[in-house]
Amino acid sequence: MPALELHELRKIYATGVEALKGVTLSVQPGDFFALLGPNGAGKSTLIGIVSSLVNASSGEVRVFGVDLHAQRAAAMRMIGLVPQEMNFNLFEKPFDILVNYAGFYGIPRAEAIVCAEQELKRAQLWDKAQTMSRNLSGGMKRRLMIARAMMTRPRLLILDEPTAGVDIEIRRGMWRTLREVNAAGTTVILTTHYLEEAESLCRNLAIIDGGRIIEQGPMKALLAKL
Ligand code: ADP
Ligand code: ADP
Repeated sequence: MPALELHELRKIYATGVEALKGVTLSVQPGDFFALLGPNGAGKSTLIGIVSSLVNASSGEVRVFGVDLHAQRAAAMRMIGLVPQEMNFNLFEKPFDILVNYAGFYGIPRAEAIVCAEQELKRAQLWDKAQTMSRNLSGGMKRRLMIARAMMTRPRLLILDEPTAGVDIEIRRGMWRTLREVNAAGTTVILTTHYLEEAESLCRNLAIIDGGRIIEQGPMKALLAKL
């Protein structure tokens, strides 16, 4: 059963813009998948629909077989989302940010404490667990966003342009954390407009342009074509 299955997904915004023109796509469990495309291609719209922030105009979305439209809550429980904008409290410490986030999702405190240690270590932030977040570097703040999203134990982690506008050193630190998340069994899907990022991280990818998937397959096969 695919981790994510999209069938003939369409989105027409109220403005008349047709952002997705029938996208059919399937991502296998355990994959590290990139959706690569230029600005305006429809990447954010697609991620917005899968993460329930945007309503599709038509089409189907299934998360591990669960229909997003019919069983939204059950599907959303399997998804972790890393938003582009940093939206945690800068006057809290990373450890508290993670434990409180888990609490919001009903995870028992004792479990959340164990999980927070694991996620902070995976994100190379364990030594910053008790540092006020406003004092973290840009790269640390971004890795904290990944650690936080992992607190609910999602089977599918989704990131929309996670490294947009950051320098290569910050990007590499995030890549390392994402590789570890994927190695532990979580399916990862990210959007990017950097071929280099897709190439470095992903096993499979789809190229989207003008609201349509124009290529899809293993990274290696697509690189050979370019
Ligand atoms: P719905 O999801 O109900 O169809 P829309 O997403 O179409 O609603 O509308 C959301 C708002 O974003 C609208 O007010 C629209 O004017 C605005 N908007 C229009 N064009 C853009 C754009 N290119 N990027 C971001 N927001 C836009
Ligand atoms: P990408 O993430 O690949 O840059 P988007 O999904 O943001 O692409 O945008 C796809 C198309 O939809 C663009 O033409 C964009 O201007 C338009 N668009 C995005 N969001 C909205 C919105 N809320 N309302 C109207 N048009 C939008």
